[in-house]
Amino acid sequence: MGVCPLHTPTESEATPVTTSPGATSSGPVAPTSSALGAQRPLTRTSRPRLTAGLLHDWQRRNASASMPLALRQLEAAGNLDNVRLAIRAGAAGTADGDGHASVDRPRQLGPVDPLPGTDYRGPVFMDSDVYKTLEAIGWELGHGPEPDLAGFAASTIDLLAHAQQQDGYLNSYVQASGEPRYSRLAWSHEHYCDGHLIQAAIASHRGAGDSRLLDIATRLADHLVREFAGKEMGLDGHPIIETALVELYRETGTEAYLNLARQFVDQRGHGLAGDSGMGRRYLQDHMPVRELATETGHAVRALYLEAGVTDVATETHDRELLDSSIGRWDDMLAAKTYLTGGNGSRHVDEGFGDRFELPPDRAYNETCAAIASFHWSWRLLLATGDAKYADHMERVLYNGFAAAIATEGDRFFYVNPLQRREDHFEKDDPGRRRAWFSCACCPPNIMRLLASLDKYLATRAHDTLYIHQYTGARLSGAGLELEMVTDYPWSGLLTFTVLSAPASARGLALRIPSWSAASTVTINNSSERVVAPHAGYLHLHQEWRPGDEITLRLDITPRWSYPDRRVDAVRGCAAIERGPLVYCFEQADQSVRLDELAVTPGAELTEREVTLDGIGRTYRVSMPARHVPSAPGSAGRETTAVAIPYFQWDNRGPGAMRVWMPGS
Ligand SMILES: [Zn+2]
Repeated sequence: MGVCPLHTPTESEATPVTTSPGATSSGPVAPTSSALGAQRPLTRTSRPRLTAGLLHDWQRRNASASMPLALRQLEAAGNLDNVRLAIRAGAAGTADGDGHASVDRPRQLGPVDPLPGTDYRGPVFMDSDVYKTLEAIGWELGHGPEPDLAGFAASTIDLLAHAQQQDGYLNSYVQASGEPRYSRLAWSHEHYCDGHLIQAAIASHRGAGDSRLLDIATRLADHLVREFAGKEMGLDGHPIIETALVELYRETGTEAYLNLARQFVDQRGHGLAGDSGMGRRYLQDHMPVRELATETGHAVRALYLEAGVTDVATETHDRELLDSSIGRWDDMLAAKTYLTGGNGSRHVDEGFGDRFELPPDRAYNETCAAIASFHWSWRLLLATGDAKYADHMERVLYNGFAAAIATEGDRFFYVNPLQRREDHFEKDDPGRRRAWFSCACCPPNIMRLLASLDKYLATRAHDTLYIHQYTGARLSGAGLELEMVTDYPWSGLLTFTVLSAPASARGLALRIPSWSAASTVTINNSSERVVAPHAGYLHLHQEWRPGDEITLRLDITPRWSYPDRRVDAVRGCAAIERGPLVYCFEQADQSVRLDELAVTPGAELTEREVTLDGIGRTYRVSMPARHVPSAPGSAGRETTAVAIPYFQWDNRGPGAMRVWMPGS
């Protein structure tokens, strides 16, 4: 492309790409038919549906409790007033499309604080919360009518249409404040907000069948192409525009969007994002992407960038770029990921730490990082078909992600540590879930993932339907239509009933999670046999008839897990897992102080279903333990320790919690 003097185009970049306008999938990621990829999302017509079980309950709770809360908060926190302010600024002629080059930014302001002297409220990226909520609504309206959500979307899209400037630019902060456009991309989050707008537009179009937001998004993207294509104008300090532009290319067939995404990926690492005050690593701008061996800096930025890197690589057949992303994913899983699937070891920059620097009490594990990791892993699953990505998505979904949401769906964690001490104090983390945040990136991000969860259950490859995540659902792909019935993850028993199957539909692949030690399968009245998975999947290939029934039994026996010995912070500790669920020990369940408990790793585990106040249904796991008081010379005494699923913690008031327990 000749836009970056430090990067020589590879052979694959020079290969012309055949575009296939119009997305073939109804989900958030819809690779073109010519993209690299071992597997494809289910087609537009397949319309997967969650019908029962935990994931279904989470999606319903999202629509009935969390999203109405977001609608109220966006009004109360000023996000929508900011857009109205931008409209008034435009009407008064104070925003002329070029910004005001003479505006100085006082030094005492924080990097995301608005300029004083305007009525703009909140950090400069407040628009992104509006867009993430609109994205959640777009996916949710694909499940059925929701008049309140649809009404909010309609009125908000009207506001945005009024606020958008003649040349396509749209950013309430810049328009209301008069701060010059693109004058400090390290922190202004202009492209970050654009990326979320584009993703909302795609959800609105694919989910709700509404193209009004897509019109706004394409005008904005056309503006970006005019302003940035082929130039070194700078890079946004917070990636997401890369993956958003690729998806807009997939939706519209406009190759300029793909080219701009590729340019942004290739330009990263050359200092173009500007001075963040946190160093170039923080913005992943210290080294070209394809030379990076490990994740560094701000975790959400790094993982959103990886989603874009994978998208660009698959659409441009850039195997070198794809391999670099795969290599970093492997490194991240080996040395920079918590047992809960979380990422981010440091509060100071919400960032990745050194390899094996994974302290449970100091874990940052921002909820947005879990979501970004889920999104990136899905793209790598599509690209490679490797079950390890689906395994990890499950770990993230049921643990690091799910713990961020209160049982009632009305409070959220931003930070997700694996240990909370009884005297916890942290300036940026109260240790309890909250209804909203001054920097509210996480709650609406949770909402957009839950609203789209049905899109991540299955894929297709050639004549085979692959099922990756298990819950009550109806699915169709590769010709097969199935009903999946299960009480997963509480139970490991799964039943798949064939609803329809033409003669050509033969292939079905069921993921066998890596934690399932002994899985069995029964087809109709055949005898039960032990599953020997191939590359993480049980492959069934035969002629199917309506009414055929497959019963898969996964081994969810509670098990002990041990840390890599290089993780100093938890050396000598052990944790409990049961199926896909990581367990934790909460003070409310113990008869002695939690920090005086020690367990015997490998001891027999006993499980029991219970209903707990504030949580409802759960499976508790008990084990013999020692009460070792902190008094000098105390020998301790035998007692019992009790664990509950990590995602259910902090629903019964304050108190200590820990995932990793010291061995006795
Ligand atoms: Zn966040």
